[in-house]
Amino acid sequence: MRTLITGGAGFIGSHLCDRFIAEGHDVLCLDNFITGNPVNIHHLHDNPRFTLIRHNISNHIEIDGPIDNILHFASPASPVDYLRHPIPTLKVGSLGTHNSLGLAKAKNARFLLASTSEVYGDPERHPQREDYWGNVNPIGIRGVYDEAKRFAEAMTMAYHRSHGINTHIIRIFNTYGPRMRLDDGRVVPNLMGQALRGESLTVYGDGSQTRSFCYVSDLVEGIFRLLFKDFHEPVNLGNPNEVSILDFAKEIASLSGHECRIEFKPLPQDDPKVRKPDITRARTLLGWEPKVDRQEGMRQTLEYFRGTMRA
Ligand code: UDP
Repeated sequence: MRTLITGGAGFIGSHLCDRFIAEGHDVLCLDNFITGNPVNIHHLHDNPRFTLIRHNISNHIEIDGPIDNILHFASPASPVDYLRHPIPTLKVGSLGTHNSLGLAKAKNARFLLASTSEVYGDPERHPQREDYWGNVNPIGIRGVYDEAKRFAEAMTMAYHRSHGINTHIIRIFNTYGPRMRLDDGRVVPNLMGQALRGESLTVYGDGSQTRSFCYVSDLVEGIFRLLFKDFHEPVNLGNPNEVSILDFAKEIASLSGHECRIEFKPLPQDDPKVRKPDITRARTLLGWEPKVDRQEGMRQTLEYFRGTMRA
C-alpha cells in the first residue's frame, strides 16, 4: 500500500509515518515545515519506503502513481501556533482539505481527516459525545482553527456523500508525547520545559479548567484501526482521564524532582473550561481504548524533553 500523510513531519504525523512504514506501507510524507520539524523524520530519510514531499497542501498538487490512503494531518495545531499563523491555518483546513480530498477522489484512496475536540468549542455538554454540535466563537482568536476544522469536516462529509469517497473523521483530544515542539506553547511542553529549567510553572487562569491527556501511541493505534473500517461519521479519540490544569502542573512538578513554584497568568480568550471525550463510539467500533496511563506517558515525555534540551 502507498500512504500519503500531510503534515507528516509534525508531532502526530511523524509517529504515523513510523507506524505505516512498520506495517509495510510506502509512505509519502508531505510537509511545508511551518510548524513541522525535520528532526522528527530524520531517521526515515534512508528508508527506501519513505519519500519526503516539501509542499504546502493549501496549493494544488499532483502526485504520480497510485495512492491507497490519505491522512490529512497538516495544520498548525497548538493555540500559540495558530494564533501566529491564522491565515495559513484557515487555508490548510479549507483549501488544504479540498486539495487532499480531490487527490483522494483522483486516486480512489481512503481518506482520514484529523479533526479536533476544538469543534466542540467551550462545551456546554460534558463529556463531549460526537453528536454534540459544539459552542464555537467564530470570530474569536481560536476561531481560525475551530472553524477551519468544522469546515474540513463538512467538506469531508460532502465528498463522501457526493463522490462516494471512503472518508473517516477523527476528533483528536489533547495528545502528548515525544516529538512535541518544546516551543509550541501547549501546556505539556511549556510546563515540562519550565520544570526542567528550574523555572516557575505558568498556569493560566486559576487552573480549574480541565483537559484529558492521551499518549501519542494510543492515538496512533486508534487512527490505524479506524482507517480500515467502513464508518464515516466522526469518532472521538482521546483519553477520558480528566484533570484540572493546576493538578496537572503539580504532577509535572513532582515528576521532575524539582521544587517548582506556580505562577498564575491570565487565561487566554475563549479557553475551554472543560474537555473530556466520551469514547463509547471508539470503544464499540474499534475495540479501542487508551492503554498508557498519565504517569508513564509523562515520564517518557519528560525524558524526551530532557534529551532535546541536552542536545
Ligand atoms: N495552559 C497553562 N499554562 C501554559 C500553557 C497552557 O495553564 O503554559 C493552559 C491553557 O490555558 C489551557 C490548557 O492549559 O487551559 C491546555 O492548553 P493547550 O495550549 O495545551 O491546549 P488547548 O487544550 O487549550 O487547546
